[in-house]
Amino acid sequence: METALHLSQVTLEYPDGEGILRALDGVSLDLRRGEFVSLVGPSGSGKSSLLAVAATLVRPTAGSVAVAGQDAGSLTEAGRTALRRDSIGIIFQQPNLLPSLTAVEQLLVAAHLRAEPLGDARRKAAGLLGRVGLASVLDKRPHQLSGGQRQRVNIARALMASPAVLLVDEPTAALDRGRSEEIVRLLREVTDEFGVATLMVTHDTGLVSFTDAVATMRDGRLTAGVHADAR
Ligand code: ADP
Ligand code: MG
Repeated sequence: METALHLSQVTLEYPDGEGILRALDGVSLDLRRGEFVSLVGPSGSGKSSLLAVAATLVRPTAGSVAVAGQDAGSLTEAGRTALRRDSIGIIFQQPNLLPSLTAVEQLLVAAHLRAEPLGDARRKAAGLLGRVGLASVLDKRPHQLSGGQRQRVNIARALMASPAVLLVDEPTAALDRGRSEEIVRLLREVTDEFGVATLMVTHDTGLVSFTDAVATMRDGRLTAGVHADAR
């Protein structure tokens, strides 16, 4: 399978008083389509920083990031925005749904930005919401949905562009055990069905059994798991 996400020797430094804080320190990672990898490690070890760099939201101090074969470092800001819009699905702990929009409309916002024909986008949105178990609540607004249902809308929305990569940061932190397992099981299924490469940060070691591999971060380094060229 094609490499969907390629990180090579990524270092990310933040100014820190007189000195610098190295949030990422030479991280290399390859994910292929259909692969689901969990990312674990103590608080402050750099997990969210790694997702932000992989999402091309933050430029690394050194090293390279390629998504769907496109080298993010060689793109303009507009090019990176287009790459995110077309190739990267982002799922954070809080779904960040727009309060006034229905479930279907949440998915149509990005399609509108991509200038997709509305009829096609509506059909695709309804299909995706059906796939994540929300066929009966297409026209409900966020306050009418449960926490688990809101996270499912979030997942369906992230899949709207048919991305190559899904980046997921602690998707179950606000959910109970049963709901958490359902969400990760769903992420496993859509990773397989849509052939997306999924990288999920979690602190819940009970959930990693649904994934193909576990990468462990410590002090900005990947200490175990899936390094570039390891497979
Ligand atoms: P994790 O997600 O594993 O808890 P983070 O990636 O959020 O870790 O943070 C890694 C390190 O980088 C921490 O020391 C954190 O304080 C620091 N850090 C994260 N974001 C910023 C930022 N925007 N500015 C400065 N330091 C940051
Ligand atoms: Mg974090």
